[in-house]
Amino acid sequence: MTNPHQEETFTELYKLIKQSNYTVVLTGAGMSTECGLPDFRSPSGWWKNIDPLTVATVEALETNYDLFHEFYCARIKALENCHPHEGHYILTKWQQNGHIQRVVTQNVDGLHTQAQTTHVAELHGSILIYSCHDCGNEASKHQFLSKENCSLCNGKLRPNVVLFGENLPQLAWNNALHHIQLAELVIVIGSSLQVYPVSQLPKMTNGKTIYINMEMNEKQSFFDLVIEGSARDTLIEVDRLLK
Ligand code: NAD
Ligand code: ZN
Repeated sequence: MTNPHQEETFTELYKLIKQSNYTVVLTGAGMSTECGLPDFRSPSGWWKNIDPLTVATVEALETNYDLFHEFYCARIKALENCHPHEGHYILTKWQQNGHIQRVVTQNVDGLHTQAQTTHVAELHGSILIYSCHDCGNEASKHQFLSKENCSLCNGKLRPNVVLFGENLPQLAWNNALHHIQLAELVIVIGSSLQVYPVSQLPKMTNGKTIYINMEMNEKQSFFDLVIEGSARDTLIEVDRLLK
């Protein structure tokens, strides 16, 4: 349900998209919650029962592999029943129509690409690709899920996500930075902006900035326009105006 104030902000967002010649969308886990995937920091997120620093870290992988493996198996299994929602497809359409130029994401779920958005910069890697932590040899999902060791060096297998304590993939980061610097408009959707260095990206543009998020936080004051609401519903409403 939209209220009159929301209608105004949708119209404002619509105008900014129309005026911009180069728009970059930066998404976080809140983009995927409406597909049924929990985010991290919401009350119903993954971190409710588990401290991230005990599982999504290099240390956990190396010293507490059972817990690491259990956590990622649960996330991989949760993803098996998920599909992109209407908002993902709207972003694809906007890219094809030239309303937006790039999607940059912290999500590891591959849902933007599954919705046919192209050239997505995956800043935190992908949970759909697996390799050996020690030698980098590629592995299959089946090998990871069944807790096999690397066929070359017997090392531990892992998904190719960026763990706390690891650097971001250089190519994806440079790519994102390049487009953020070209942008006349940056739209952040569904991110608490708590994770460094992605949290810095909105500050690195000379363009206007928009924040679409379910819950507001101290980061909102930085943005030119703030929309408190669902990623999917906001994209549907603004798409209606763009038609
Ligand atoms: P986060 O959990 O810290 O923040 C998500 C934000 O989205 C919250 O502020 C929440 O209020 C908001 N939100 C939740 N549902 C929403 C909706 N329907 N519409 C709009 N906003 C909504 O997630 P983050 O900022 O992306 O944190 C980054 C870390 O989370 C990254 O390391 C990322 O890789 C990881 N992560 C990824 C996935 C995924 O790939 N789907 C899932 C969980 C976490
Ligand atoms: Zn190996």
